[in-house]
Amino acid sequence: MVAALTVGLRGRLAPTPTGLLHVGHARTFAVAARRAGAAGLVLRIEDLDAPRCRPEFAAAALDDLRWLGLEWTEGPDVGGPHAPYVQSGRTPWFLEVWRRLEAAGAIYPSPHSRRDVEEAATAPHGDHSEAIFPTALRPDRWDRAASPGGVAWRFRVPDGRAIEFEDALAGTVRRTAGVDFGDFVVWRRDDLPAYELAVVADDHAMQIAEVVRGDDLLTSTARQILLYEALGWPVPAWCHVPLVRDAAGERLAKRSGGRAIRDLRDAGWTAEDVLTRPL
Ligand code: GLU
Repeated sequence: MVAALTVGLRGRLAPTPTGLLHVGHARTFAVAARRAGAAGLVLRIEDLDAPRCRPEFAAAALDDLRWLGLEWTEGPDVGGPHAPYVQSGRTPWFLEVWRRLEAAGAIYPSPHSRRDVEEAATAPHGDHSEAIFPTALRPDRWDRAASPGGVAWRFRVPDGRAIEFEDALAGTVRRTAGVDFGDFVVWRRDDLPAYELAVVADDHAMQIAEVVRGDDLLTSTARQILLYEALGWPVPAWCHVPLVRDAAGERLAKRSGGRAIRDLRDAGWTAEDVLTRPL
């Protein structure tokens, strides 16, 4: 008997090719595939962090996804229907989004290094290890700019505002701007879009109806909701999957060499094992 295809919410797989995909990615992506059902999945390679991203990891990710039996229904304009979107080729669109934020007065140039921020931060850090950007370092005024021009740009968060959203797995999530996170970088000093801008720009452009990803990004979701609002775009639905932990309770990290899909495959695990077997 053929199971009826569920019509879910159009989703995406968005691996960053800085290493091999591990079992945690596999399980999150399987949730994404299940929830998208017949609405389909976009595959997007998030390779903006140029020095750390490598084409061989992107190729390995595609190979691993195929081996797992995950299928994406959409890719870029060129390269065939199943080739992935690649963020490094989408700079004009990210610049356009930067322009819209700049025109809206939502972002400002910020010459402060991470070190300045660490040193000036008096407030406790948010739930991520990054220091909360001190409001004292916000400029009083700045010139309008036609391009980001070699300086970082930050989004000015509404201090004290609670951002609340419903998550399909995490339930009601609430983060407070200025307390859990501060003014965040949308454009990097090395002239690359920062993650928060690129992901919102692309999830909107690719008409993603539900974002499925690891729950390490819950605070980022609050930042991203502020970007959607500033851009006047509809906010997608959210589903944050608890990160996979090993037997010792440690979260699997790409850099810990933790359980790469291909190592497990070489060790004789089936795709089903990778998706379900206890670690
Ligand atoms: N590219 C990110 C990662 O691999 C995921 C970002 C997202 O899903 O929003 O960690």
